[in-house]
Amino acid sequence: MKMAIKRINITIRTNRQYGDVAILVDRPKFLKRMVELRNKYSIDPTFKETYLEFIFRLQTARKYRDFEKDITNLRRSLDFPSNFSRVVEKAIICNEVSNKDYKSAYLEEIPTSNDPESPDTKYAIIISSLTLKKDVDEVFDNFKSDLKINKEKYKEPSEIDYHSFLLGPKFEYEKSKIKRDREWYWQEKSSKQYKDILEDWNKKCPDPSLDNHYDACKHCVADQNKIEQAVSRYKKLINLS
Ligand SMILES: [Zn+2]
Repeated sequence: MKMAIKRINITIRTNRQYGDVAILVDRPKFLKRMVELRNKYSIDPTFKETYLEFIFRLQTARKYRDFEKDITNLRRSLDFPSNFSRVVEKAIICNEVSNKDYKSAYLEEIPTSNDPESPDTKYAIIISSLTLKKDVDEVFDNFKSDLKINKEKYKEPSEIDYHSFLLGPKFEYEKSKIKRDREWYWQEKSSKQYKDILEDWNKKCPDPSLDNHYDACKHCVADQNKIEQAVSRYKKLINLS
């Protein structure tokens, strides 16, 4: 007797994400293959085995690679991108797909060097044709806020976990002053005295006679101390290895 196929339980609240998942897991081709794969990997139709228990059983039996390959082939045969890998997996193993299983955009750290001495990582946001711009913005915002958390966590650049968010605390500087600081740095590097750097800088003022001028003019607010601090800041920035 042929057993009736139960529909996949989708516990996603947002209509759009719910829909993205539904149009995959309700495909007759998906359901047909799902039954075959459940038979192949002895997946209990009462779903008493949890997801982790199932993965553990497959790994013990050295069948996890095969399973992964089957999942990928099924997804690709239906033209769904990698954003749906976990959806396919959870539907087959648990008959249920939740919020956590589907991301229409997500961050991926792509190691481009396996040398622990010189780790190198690309950060990519993976999208699909179903992704909206706001999904990308959300991933981007989360990435940036993780950088901030990392910055608070690691006070010294050397303490950073080099595989995660390498650029976080290292490359922060005052963007509005960077051209000026670089200029002072190169002057100092060419052995110019700070007092001469200041003098030449002051001379660049377009018109010192203007009223209320001293608060606003970048050529007049500088003093020698300010230049020294800026140069030392800049040196620190470029000497981070
Ligand atoms: Zn001025």
